[in-house]
Amino acid sequence: MTENQQFEVIIIGGSYAGLSAAMSLGRSMRKVLILDNNLPCNRQTPYSHNFITQDGIPPAKIAAQAKEQVLRYPTITFVSDTAISGTKTNGSFLIATRSGKEYYSAKLIFATGIKDQLPDIPGFADCWGISVIHCPYCHGYEFKGQRTGIFADVAKAFHLATLVNNLTSDLTLIIPEGASIDTVQAEKLTRNGIKILQKEIKAVVHVNGQLSEIVFIDDHRIPLDALYAAIPFIQSSKIPENLGCALTESGHLDIDEFHRTNTDGIFACGDNTSPMRSVANAVYSGNFTGAIVNKLLSDESF
Ligand SMILES: Cc1cc2nc3c(=O)[nH]c(=O)nc-3n(C[C@H](O)[C@H](O)[C@H](O)COP(=O)(O)OP(=O)(O)OC[C@H]3O[C@@H](n4cnc5c(N)ncnc54)[C@H](O)[C@@H]3O)c2cc1C
Repeated sequence: MTENQQFEVIIIGGSYAGLSAAMSLGRSMRKVLILDNNLPCNRQTPYSHNFITQDGIPPAKIAAQAKEQVLRYPTITFVSDTAISGTKTNGSFLIATRSGKEYYSAKLIFATGIKDQLPDIPGFADCWGISVIHCPYCHGYEFKGQRTGIFADVAKAFHLATLVNNLTSDLTLIIPEGASIDTVQAEKLTRNGIKILQKEIKAVVHVNGQLSEIVFIDDHRIPLDALYAAIPFIQSSKIPENLGCALTESGHLDIDEFHRTNTDGIFACGDNTSPMRSVANAVYSGNFTGAIVNKLLSDESF
């Protein structure tokens, strides 16, 4: 092992959460390696919203500015590569990468995010993050007053309907065929003038990602400007689970209030740990995790 391979902390994932953790650690003079393969979940979205100082800015621009600021701290190294495996040996973690490199550290932070499992519906992926959206706080304001759909299971569709109802009076829920809605929920939806369709979507019609119509399996069509979609996800990296980190029922990495996973020395932050999916939350949780890891390293050597 050379000096270039040994770090106090390796952060896997160098987007908002990872860079934020790195800044706390860099400002504490910790020797940190960030490994990142540049696939943040919001990469197709033209503008990011709801983060003060960065509202309406392209996501990649926010990340580039963050990276530039983080790399001013000389103890931080950023490597564009994919972490492919992790092992724990003699109190040290070994991370191997796709390009064949090996790096070691005392602590690991996973800021690896999640992968949305887009349904195999023609047009859906093209519109993802543009007019097929995941969150009213991120993109709802831009579609206020417009023809809006919600595509989700009943519980998530109802939850989203309560939020989106404030943004538009033209709202249609598209829920699975055969799913039952309880009578109280159905009554509230009707009272708010929300339409319900229980049909399978065949295609999303769009121009350059801007949705114009939803086509159903029976060829019924409805015009829409925006579609909220609550879709499944998986962890972007399997390495935490392979190192023994537990997941919650929702599929997030299970962490305590100090962002410790159940595996000693391994921490996690950002989307991979939280259903509150936003750049601001990722930045906060990375910042906090970096401080916690620094405190632990400080205590261990004091
Ligand atoms: C379509 C869409 C639009 C959104 N719009 C907004 C918005 O307008 N406003 C807002 O506040 N939030 C928005 N969000 C949410 C926001 O993008 C996320 O909350 C945020 O990106 C989470 O940051 P993160 O660092 O945890 O994960 P990510 O940003 O997803 O980054 C994870 C990083 O880890 C890297 N990585 C993963 N595995 C490995 C590995 N094995 N080796 C190396 N690198 C790895 C990835 O390449 C990536 O760079 C949006 C989300 C989506 C999906």
